[in-house]
Amino acid sequence: AKSEGRNTGRFFDSGLKERERLRLHLARDLEHAIAAGQLRVVFQPIAEIESLQPVGYEALLRWRHPDFGEVPPDQFIPIAETTGLIESIGLWVADQAFATAATWDPAISLSLNLSPIQFRRAGTASDLIACASRHGLAADRLEFEVTESATLLGSHRDEVLRGLQMLQASGARIVMDDFGTGHSSLSNLKEFPFDKLKIDRSFVAAMRDDKSSASIVKATIGLGKSLGVTIVAEGVETQAQLEALRRLGCHQVQGYLIGRPAAWISNAAESMASRMP
Ligand code: C2E
Ligand code: CA
Ligand code: CA
Ligand code: CA
Repeated sequence: AKSEGRNTGRFFDSGLKERERLRLHLARDLEHAIAAGQLRVVFQPIAEIESLQPVGYEALLRWRHPDFGEVPPDQFIPIAETTGLIESIGLWVADQAFATAATWDPAISLSLNLSPIQFRRAGTASDLIACASRHGLAADRLEFEVTESATLLGSHRDEVLRGLQMLQASGARIVMDDFGTGHSSLSNLKEFPFDKLKIDRSFVAAMRDDKSSASIVKATIGLGKSLGVTIVAEGVETQAQLEALRRLGCHQVQGYLIGRPAAWISNAAESMASRMP
């Protein structure tokens, strides 16, 4: 298999009417996906740029539909958001990912994607904090990634801000995901308490052939440094991209070159040994 979750053209080829029918079908099925055991969490390494040693892993959700096979999260997360299912799914992912991260070396952090919609409910941040503590996971090992979607700018802005502040006050780090693709990255940067910027993979991909993408990456790294935040580049697929990012002083990298998202296979013997006094 190539990259997980991008196995089918079905979702992109179909006509408008067919797509709407499929969307309704998926919305109905997604409601039962947790109970039916169709969801799972995979982990992709985030590495320090010089040593390429993992400093953390990002949790990414997967849905294996009984008829359609792997449905890409780009397809079903928006459905989960519009139906409100994102609240229960989001907490389920957190619980799964925290349980896994609790078995890791304590120097390794966990990154979790949050939808701004999840903050519509005021209890979300405290639920996440309580869930981490139930798993014995220190909050300073947690990173929460949010994208600058329309909601971040829209009516839930204050709720999102309050939620992120609460998570940060608990000791977790806040990451602006897909930096540069949003509507007003710079003003969001000023208003939201970000600890880390993740450069969108579209800029990384275009960096070599396209001068303006290279300038954007360079400027983002400079901006991050002057703000004192960590810069991570996503979608790093080639050695040339890695070297260019090193020259520009980027801190961390993530992408197929370093490691693909994969199920976490716990090694019982190893985790026992690492827990020995
Ligand atoms: P994202 O947070 O920007 O995640 C990065 C996406 O890029 C992932 O796609 C990952 O598999 C893919 N990727 C990683 N390295 C490379 C690379 O070198 N090249 C290329 N071409 N792609 C790479 P994925 O897993 O399909 O997820 C898509 C989006 O779905 C995520 O984008 C995120 O916005 C959303 N998502 C996934 N899991 C969750 C979740 O648990 N909660 C929420 N709210 N959103 C999620
Ligand atoms: Ca992310
Ligand atoms: Ca991203
Ligand atoms: Ca993305």
